[in-house]
Amino acid sequence: MLYLGYHLSSVNGFEAMGREALKAGANTFAFFTRNPRGGKAKAIDPDDAAALCTLLDENSFGKLVAHAPYTLNPCSDKPNVREFAKLCMSEDMERMEYLPGNYYNFHPGSHVGQGTEAGIRMITDLLNDIVSPEQSTTVLLETMSGKGSEVGGRFEELAAIIDGVKVKEKIGVCMDSCHISDAGYDIISDLDGVLEEFDRVVGLHYLKALHINDSKNPPESHKDRHACIGEGELGLDVIGRFINHPKLTGLPCILETPNEFEGYKREIELLRAWR
Ligand code: FE
Ligand code: FE
Ligand code: ZN
Repeated sequence: MLYLGYHLSSVNGFEAMGREALKAGANTFAFFTRNPRGGKAKAIDPDDAAALCTLLDENSFGKLVAHAPYTLNPCSDKPNVREFAKLCMSEDMERMEYLPGNYYNFHPGSHVGQGTEAGIRMITDLLNDIVSPEQSTTVLLETMSGKGSEVGGRFEELAAIIDGVKVKEKIGVCMDSCHISDAGYDIISDLDGVLEEFDRVVGLHYLKALHINDSKNPPESHKDRHACIGEGELGLDVIGRFINHPKLTGLPCILETPNEFEGYKREIELLRAWR
């Protein structure tokens, strides 16, 4: 089963997201758990959350991939910034329980000159504070492009974070096609090799979701600029092979391309029709 969807807005609530996803031909989706710039989260309407759960069930959706605000920095050099990330994420763990059993994806952060090792330690500490064996949500580390002092551009860094986390059964990875190409992993000509490397370094059983973006920049550019499918340096065929790879079957695939509703609908059709 190909689970395809895109990042949609939560302004109209949970059930509205499910209805919009259906209209676009999606059977999974992503959303920000709160204002993407961080800050206070809107109170959750339990009836609305339950209505979405019913809709997802009735329409055989794959797992959802909620996204933490991208402005959080779990490995900042400022204690109050790290504290804020922890606060938001621990609150999000509680909020996610209204949609039990889904994924919550976050950017590991930027170490801003403290060094990768220090960054990894801070990220691990934060995860050990917020992830509990009782929660139903699996927290996903996103593979990053290695822009600036970003942590998570190398598989080794993700492996080191996971290694330090106590509750490993609630941790996973979300692989972003634009980010790993920008980071220097050659998914254009050696996707098998990249997945073998991921398996060797991290373990494929940790790979839980995919972000599907073309890239405005050539491999190893460390830029992180998403392009629409087929309009970037990866191209439709590389992305088609990626989401249909036998080792990645059943993973939710989320488009984060620069689109509005019509564009996402078109890209979902395009990808479903691919070979
Ligand atoms: Fe992301
Ligand atoms: Fe992404
Ligand atoms: Zn990105």
